[in-house]
Amino acid sequence: AVQLRLTGLTRTFNEVTAVDHIDLDVRKGEIFALLGPSGCGKSTTLRMVAGLEKIDDGSITMGERTLADVQQGTFLPSEKRDLAMVFQSYAIWPHMTVAQNVAFPLRMRRVKRAERRRRVEEILAVTGLEAMADRPATLLSGGQQQRVALARALVYTPDLLLLDEPLSNLDAKLRTQMRREIRRLNQELGITMLFVTHDQYEALSMADRLAVMNKGRIEQIGRPTDLYERPKTPFVRDFLGRLIVVEGVLDGDPAERRVLLDQGGRRVGLIAGVEPPAGLKNGDRVGVHLRPEDVDIKRRPPGEPAPNQVAARVVSSVYLGDSFEYVLDIASSQVLLDAPRRVVHQPGDEVVIEVDPQRTMVWPL
Ligand code: ADP
Repeated sequence: AVQLRLTGLTRTFNEVTAVDHIDLDVRKGEIFALLGPSGCGKSTTLRMVAGLEKIDDGSITMGERTLADVQQGTFLPSEKRDLAMVFQSYAIWPHMTVAQNVAFPLRMRRVKRAERRRRVEEILAVTGLEAMADRPATLLSGGQQQRVALARALVYTPDLLLLDEPLSNLDAKLRTQMRREIRRLNQELGITMLFVTHDQYEALSMADRLAVMNKGRIEQIGRPTDLYERPKTPFVRDFLGRLIVVEGVLDGDPAERRVLLDQGGRRVGLIAGVEPPAGLKNGDRVGVHLRPEDVDIKRRPPGEPAPNQVAARVVSSVYLGDSFEYVLDIASSQVLLDAPRRVVHQPGDEVVIEVDPQRTMVWPL
């Protein structure tokens, strides 16, 4: 079931179209991320959903309810939208205790005292804050304050929780902990969550599905593995993770397309069983895009390289502790590649890189 639907949603500031006719469904109970570089329109989208920003075109519906619709002239104010927000500057009130902070949204909604107490106790237990209920909020660590902000947002079980860069203010260890915490709360409470981030790891690790945004538009929507392993646009391909690119020429028949890799008129490798995008024909120069983590470097065996092994030469190596970082000459390209420290290669060594064609992306150059 669809919990939140954005249709043709648009917001323009003076000449800048911050959000440009985006269509997006967030399913009930899922964690959905809007990911993209700074200025791509993520926050504006989140603020429009929250009711903090006017919309210039399109509509926002939650379940059966229309929250905003330019055609109909509908615009529900934020407090009528049954959603909660946790923003980066999670303002918790310093003069209140943890329990008072968490109870605040219920007071605002005039929930009766007994019911209020029950719900606050419940959410403090779920968020692991029971022991701190009577502590002044100012005496909490950054991570604990963020948890209070989460508890306060969740206490009236909103239909949708909006989070703005939920992990970015936390140190590395707390970030891992909060990531697990948010996923657990999502599962236990079944609350749909929509968050924005510019951090690909935050999006890939927390979201069930995500949308990559660029210049006010959506480039691609899907599960983390869909976007990382089968990017549909060059922007998504280059935004997520790292890639090495080796140039070659497309060849073969429709049943078995392959890429020939040459260097100085000599065949240095062949990748068989690739799936180039439609429109590319034999003889076209292509870029073979590989994730460094999918590639193995091996000592070069004598003779011609086997299929899906590409001859390469080590240019330089850097010891990183847990791994080595190599610069390799492959065909007519130079690439940077991490490798486990189990096998050591020296500059000048002749090696092969072993490629899995299933994990190879072929793009026009
Ligand atoms: P992101 O959250 O992805 O960093 P934003 O949604 O904040 O991006 O901004 C998208 C674009 O809209 C940017 O070009 C930004 O400068 C512009 N913008 C956002 N808010 C305003 C505003 N209140 N007035 C003018 N321009 C704005």
